[in-house]
Amino acid sequence: MIYTCYEMVTDCRANRPEGWTHFITNYVPVIRKALAHYVPGKEADPMLLERILLAVRKPESFVFQATEPPEERWFVSQLRQIVMAELHSPAAEIALDLEQVGAALEPLTMTEKQAAWLETMRYAPEDAGPMLRVSAETVEKVRVRAAELIRGKVDAWRRTLLAENGPALGREAAVAQGADCLPGKAFLDVIDGRTAWRGREMMDQHLRGCLHCVDHFCRLLEVVYLLRGSQPLTAEEAEPLLRRLGIEAPKPTGWKRLLRRA
Ligand SMILES: [Zn+2]
Repeated sequence: MIYTCYEMVTDCRANRPEGWTHFITNYVPVIRKALAHYVPGKEADPMLLERILLAVRKPESFVFQATEPPEERWFVSQLRQIVMAELHSPAAEIALDLEQVGAALEPLTMTEKQAAWLETMRYAPEDAGPMLRVSAETVEKVRVRAAELIRGKVDAWRRTLLAENGPALGREAAVAQGADCLPGKAFLDVIDGRTAWRGREMMDQHLRGCLHCVDHFCRLLEVVYLLRGSQPLTAEEAEPLLRRLGIEAPKPTGWKRLLRRA
């Protein structure tokens, strides 16, 4: 019997220890990997981790508000948003807003927009290339072009503007959802190669004009990177975290099932 992400969310909502234990065991390593990427050195900060875990437990968190059937990649993409919110990143010296970026990157295709957007998420061309199934050189070339396009739209500029404004742009993009925006499942279908040519064509069309969806798509690509090679915590590592959250650890016999990944 495999314990699925769907069962985990259901158990967490009912505040059953099984759900929260599975969450801590399997997803604290993912949170740490996201921290190591976005704020290197902070992945071992126990106060920051505790703040993130408490935010996940809040009734207004996505765990309790899910609108899509929870599958693991969707779950991790939402979890990443909580991590980002808890980082309280300082504002960039030269501010760039979503409208400016949207207007500047208008001539780029969907994949080119993603290559540029992954720079706001601090992915180097060597990481972004494999995510998009293009070479690192292609990503670098697109980024140089994107930077020049942005340069043409702003008064003050430097090459690193997109990365510096990443956290603010990500927050803006996340709430910029429109009526025609696509559900996460549509992007997962593309990632899994399940989309017919026509669906892909329509997606291309929409993403050319929608940074909300470009961001959403990129966050799902990021999930694959965050989950890769992730090792669950041991019962000994998970226990103090569970105790801090006031969750009673399941009986030893329950661990075996929970440690098996969905
Ligand atoms: Zn959209």
